[in-house]
Amino acid sequence: MLAVDIGGTKLAAALVGRDGAVLRDATVPTPPTGVMDALTALIATVTEDAPPPVAVGIGSAGPMDALAGTVSPVNMPSWRGFPLRERVGELTGLPTVLAGDAQCFALGEHWLGAGDGSGSLLGVVVSTGIGGGLVIDGRPLLGPLGNAGHVGHMIVDPYGETCECGGRGCVERYASGPNLVRWAVANGWHGPDARALAADAGRGDPTALAAFERGARALAAMIASVAAAAEVDTVVIGGGVAGAGRVLFEPLERAVDEVAGLAFVRAVRVVPTTLGVRAALAGAAKLAWNQAASRAARPGAR
Ligand SMILES: [Zn+2]
Repeated sequence: MLAVDIGGTKLAAALVGRDGAVLRDATVPTPPTGVMDALTALIATVTEDAPPPVAVGIGSAGPMDALAGTVSPVNMPSWRGFPLRERVGELTGLPTVLAGDAQCFALGEHWLGAGDGSGSLLGVVVSTGIGGGLVIDGRPLLGPLGNAGHVGHMIVDPYGETCECGGRGCVERYASGPNLVRWAVANGWHGPDARALAADAGRGDPTALAAFERGARALAAMIASVAAAAEVDTVVIGGGVAGAGRVLFEPLERAVDEVAGLAFVRAVRVVPTTLGVRAALAGAAKLAWNQAASRAARPGAR
């Protein structure tokens, strides 16, 4: 199976076996223009002289329209309504399936990573923004247009600050990397980015610690709400901010404990990613394997 992961900073591709083994992979930085040319070269690199894949799974930054097969990644201004599924299908001559990169992250962690054995799982990618994906009763929940799982824009304070999405009080406004930094700087911290903020929190800087406490509480509100709505038993957290480690996960565990009420919500397990950057590729491959299996079960269908 050929898996492709398309993001604002990098493009990745891999050949992935039925058991999840990565046979070959490659990554390149996302160019400002000519993204399709870079992707074409990348796919050629991983498929050259290899057993031909049977299908392609694509995880892409969104938003997207999965019905039309088009993507409009926020950080890739040269792609607006770009017909990604059709173009990759033409390029490879293979059945092609498209989902969100965070949806693929969740599915990959459920298949091979920290969510292995979970019945229903929420994957959260905390980075420049906050993305998410759901696996419910073992199946990915993608949504009619492929936008299910956008948990970064779940509202944790209806009287809160206006979010970039136009909504109000979204968890992303409190807990994404740039927003952790923004709050810390407004409260007297000096530093360039979320990585420096995490390092200072690790050294006991009170403002840095308070920034992670505040972000963790917002994440906990979102997590408890999703657990209540969808009975997820596991939440896997990845993305650059998750690399902060215990300065994020310790206050997060405490906050979930404090805000959650119902027994099945309190039982939710919150864990860091084990696959890291490979999770989205694994999930894209799994999506393609799932689709190949359903095609096989319906002869004549594509
Ligand atoms: Zn929002």
